[in-house]
Amino acid sequence: MKRRDLLKYATILPIGAGIASSLIPSAAVAKATGAKRDLIKELGLRSFINAAGTYTAMTASLMHDEVIETIQEAGKHFVMLDEVQDKVGEKIAELCHAEAATVTAGCWSALVLGTAGVLTGMDMKKVAQLPNVTGMKSEVIVQKGHNIGYVHALTNTGASIVEIETVDELEKAINDKTAMMWFLNSYAPFGKIMHEEWIAIAKKHKIPTMIDMAADVPPASNLWKYNELGFDLVCVSGGKAMKGPQSAGILMGKKELIAAARLSAPPRGGNIGRGMKVNKEEILGMYVAVEKYINMDHDAELKAWEAKIEVIKSAATSVNGVITEVTVPPIANHTPTLSITWDAAKVKITNKDLMLKLRNGKPSIEVMANTTGVNITVFMLKDGEEKIVSKRIKEELALAAS
Ligand SMILES: *Cc1c(COP(=O)(O)O)cnc(C)c1O
Repeated sequence: MKRRDLLKYATILPIGAGIASSLIPSAAVAKATGAKRDLIKELGLRSFINAAGTYTAMTASLMHDEVIETIQEAGKHFVMLDEVQDKVGEKIAELCHAEAATVTAGCWSALVLGTAGVLTGMDMKKVAQLPNVTGMKSEVIVQKGHNIGYVHALTNTGASIVEIETVDELEKAINDKTAMMWFLNSYAPFGKIMHEEWIAIAKKHKIPTMIDMAADVPPASNLWKYNELGFDLVCVSGGKAMKGPQSAGILMGKKELIAAARLSAPPRGGNIGRGMKVNKEEILGMYVAVEKYINMDHDAELKAWEAKIEVIKSAATSVNGVITEVTVPPIANHTPTLSITWDAAKVKITNKDLMLKLRNGKPSIEVMANTTGVNITVFMLKDGEEKIVSKRIKEELALAAS
């Protein structure tokens, strides 16, 4: 592009728009012609069919149209950040049978802010002091089987993790520094102490409990199950199966703990949560997403998923040597999952190569690897995409079997 042309385009753009010169032509053309700008194309991004699942690296989920519309409309108005959090918090709390709720920047920041609230209470000096926990109860008890990478959210506050395995060890670990007892719902089967007992012991010692149930809807009833069981704080992701904003989540539970958690969150600064901002668009989008999710026909959705799984399964098994199995993970990502494996003597392709072929094909498709084959979920597919996925998988497997 000639410099003269560049300048011409540049005059159409606001001064200092900060857009790289390589983007100017299409941006300006789109503006001049009124054509819809396609940034995926313009930036040369690879868009794909997501037959893998709600993975952060793949941008997890696509928001419902109602959520996108909410975001667009909300973007046209100023409101006070605390007011929108108050109102939406009340609505979400009601929907989820909690005393109070607040929208956070994902489940991970719900974990951080909730823990911060437990450590500081309503003491502004302590809020400003974190992550220095001097003078505060700061030990969080976690079962060994639950102690995975997500505890980093808890230690971000300055708290330390105390790992236990048995009830006996738990009773011994509780002391006057114990701040909270944390439970990772999806890892419940890897722990020796289940929900009810965890809560009962905590209540006996007057220690607040928190549960991470980030990816654990469906079923929708989990949104109130853990509040009703008696967890003091419940943390969930907004942008996984609920299809809310990917950068939103919910912290809900006891009124005084939610109020304390919000002291470490924007609009207040000088705290550990200042960077965990959620804007009004996401807060309102999160509300609409939870509401829609709770009110949708989950039986119909499950039937639709099962039908899509069946389409892909029958296409795959039409290739000699291919073996499939449908399972539903018991807790997180509780949705039909198709495992496709094959007799290596008959179908000569590795799972890594199959994934690459699907990724590099047209259209691009992402699936997940399992030990020797691939796993497919359909809850992130748009209607009709199951046909494309089954066609491509059958093509590649048949080719490898010939
Ligand atoms: C996804 C996930 C998180 C993080 O949630 P975000 O909403 O991405 O912040 C935390 N804990 C568990 C168990 C998760 O699966």
